[in-house]
Amino acid sequence: KLTFDQFIRHWAQERPDNIVLEQGNQTISFRDLETRTRQIVAMLAQHGVGRGDRVAWLGKNDKHYFELFYAAARVGVVMVPIGWRLAGPEIAYIISDTGAKILFLGTGFEELAQKACASLDNPPEVIGQEAALAEIAAAPADEFAPAGPDDAVLQLYTSGTTGNPKGAVLTNRNLFSLRVPSQEEGQPWSHFDEDEAILVCMPCAHIGGTGLGIMAMGAGIRSIVQAEFTPDGVLDAFEQGITRLFIVPAALQMVVQHPRAKDTDMSAIKYVLYGAAPIPLDLLREAVRTIPEAGFLQCYGMTETTGTIAALPPEDHVLEGNQRMKSAGKAVAGVELRVIGEDGQELPRGEVGELVCKSPSNMAGYWNLPDATAGSLRDGWMHTGDAAYMDEDGYVFIQDRIKDMIISGGENVYPAQVESAIYGHPSVGEVAVIGVPDDTWGEAVKACVVPKPGTEVDPQDIIAWTRERLAGFKVPKSVDVIEVMPRNASGKILRKDLRAPYWEGRE
Ligand code: ATP
Ligand code: MG
Repeated sequence: KLTFDQFIRHWAQERPDNIVLEQGNQTISFRDLETRTRQIVAMLAQHGVGRGDRVAWLGKNDKHYFELFYAAARVGVVMVPIGWRLAGPEIAYIISDTGAKILFLGTGFEELAQKACASLDNPPEVIGQEAALAEIAAAPADEFAPAGPDDAVLQLYTSGTTGNPKGAVLTNRNLFSLRVPSQEEGQPWSHFDEDEAILVCMPCAHIGGTGLGIMAMGAGIRSIVQAEFTPDGVLDAFEQGITRLFIVPAALQMVVQHPRAKDTDMSAIKYVLYGAAPIPLDLLREAVRTIPEAGFLQCYGMTETTGTIAALPPEDHVLEGNQRMKSAGKAVAGVELRVIGEDGQELPRGEVGELVCKSPSNMAGYWNLPDATAGSLRDGWMHTGDAAYMDEDGYVFIQDRIKDMIISGGENVYPAQVESAIYGHPSVGEVAVIGVPDDTWGEAVKACVVPKPGTEVDPQDIIAWTRERLAGFKVPKSVDVIEVMPRNASGKILRKDLRAPYWEGRE
């Protein structure tokens, strides 16, 4: 099975009364999902929307969003979830880039939608939550022609960490090829028991949100949808008996350092999936100690690969003396990974180059960006833009984004490694490392530090701390103490924003 239509029909037959979507005290069963998605398909058709058309969603995570998306996907209408933390002009950019015919709204987003649409030449039809629900209830549950495996169904924008977000076009096959529940050898986590429940708490505009819903639906199990991430919400969900979740490192930190964490009943949890950004080793150790019931699974991937292509399995999360704990894991079943040099040739194990990936989950392409597509997707290999090396056993060690690499005095410095060393300092809450212009070195390493609450950071102390732990050329030449770390909605540090003032008017 490779399409939404196939999975929805299958589970409506096999598990009609099981819950597929749950939010607060409201639930939708697989039988309901079958009927309701048919009604939504009819409703879309009444609005003149069919295969290949785009519709957008602006709102927080919502079971209603998932139902709209799954319905659209059954017939090959492409859903574009838009991050609700974006500003009006950013939302307008995405809507006009996609040419969406309808903009569906979550509760409370009327004003933002109005602002965003005011500037558009071809504004979409805007349908609010109440109106959509009424129309769906009145629509017939007719037959329709289902979309095939290679039809596009989801257009997800990249996080915009390094530049403008790009629309990755994903097909049914992309979404399900690595998510079909299986008993893959050595991948016990891809087996799901019928009574499992997955928490969807990361934003649905990203693969770490929407992708989890897809994973649960495909596996015939329940998604517990939370409107947005809060540490309390996650702790409540543990007590409610969730068996899996996906969470980014910045959010995981808030959960494990929450005063409630040690008294929370976490006995039902099976797997904690984390990733989307590098995780400081100390934080990972703390998380493993705080949630000992869970198998930890690091996920490495990108929007363009429909999420996870490499995973660090639970058995590699050994607290002491384990180098592998620093790895993002090895290729998951069905994926081929290589590290290549500038000439495109595969490098010997241990050498740092660009990580490339061949996978049935590689996107169809970027929307409206043929040059960017041709640059990233070559002969079926997705070029990740991440610098990495691979060990003899195929474990991948992500160094950093190639774009963020600092070249100081001819030496390559990967900010993530420096950040990881500084992070261990007792008064450092958050840290980002950037390259700033330097007449002698070309670029000089600078650390931007947010102190832990109630502590003070002395720049000289940070420099001395790092000098004890890293080679001289990696040690920051200067330290800025800042109040807030600029992050995007995926929780990723926006180094480009920290860099900007130093590079103004220069290359
Ligand atoms: P943009 O492409 O718009 O600049 P982005 O690359 O942050 O934004 P995403 O597709 O959300 O957009 O993120 C993919 C990137 O996230 C990867 O290329 C990698 O740099 C980083 N990443 C993902 N998982 C991990 C991980 N487990 N460890 C380290 N980095 C990771
Ligand atoms: Mg990217």
